[in-house]
Amino acid sequence: MRAFLLIGPPGAGKGTQARRLVEKYNWGYLATGDLLREEIRKGTPLGTSIQALVENGKLVPDELIIQLVESHLKNGRDYLLDGFPRTVAQAEALDTLLQQKNAYLGGALFLQVPEDVLLQRLSTRAQIEGRADDTAETIQTRLREYHQKTAPLLSYYKAKNKLYEIAGLGSIEEVGERIEKVVETLLRDA
Ligand code: AMP
Repeated sequence: MRAFLLIGPPGAGKGTQARRLVEKYNWGYLATGDLLREEIRKGTPLGTSIQALVENGKLVPDELIIQLVESHLKNGRDYLLDGFPRTVAQAEALDTLLQQKNAYLGGALFLQVPEDVLLQRLSTRAQIEGRADDTAETIQTRLREYHQKTAPLLSYYKAKNKLYEIAGLGSIEEVGERIEKVVETLLRDA
């Protein structure tokens, strides 16, 4: 089992690109944001406990996320992880988890998008999808959380020679092709 990570600020296009990749490479797909929204929708104890955090754009505590990922990762196939890890503690937990499963990290794909474009995309998405965490105030919180807690992952994966930065500007197809180029080299070298 290999895990490929898709990391980037909110609005970078992770979900859109993840769907393309998973279909093309037949990977398992695990998006922690989707899993959390599902728990909230179903009103489970986990969902109820994290609803306010998610809706206000705050990160959910590491232990909860790590448990959630552990319980969903099945051995025997490659995975694309979308929106996980988002903190260095989560990245360390993922390293341990992969080791335990005799699996390894294929690569951390970072989608880079300038802040003004992120803001524009998020406000458009707010109008189209009506996500509870796409309001103007929440968007600011999510970006702040990203800069404080998730951006340090860039140096974490760089130090491990696992960082692949991809320009996230352009059409869905253009960005998709850039990502696929990187993935093809990773798969060839594996
Ligand atoms: P996303 O759909 O990936 O944008 O995630 C939506 C929200 O779910 C985030 O703003 C966080 O509140 C929560 N969330 C998703 N993934 C994580 C994670 N790896 N760590 C902490 N919180 C997360």
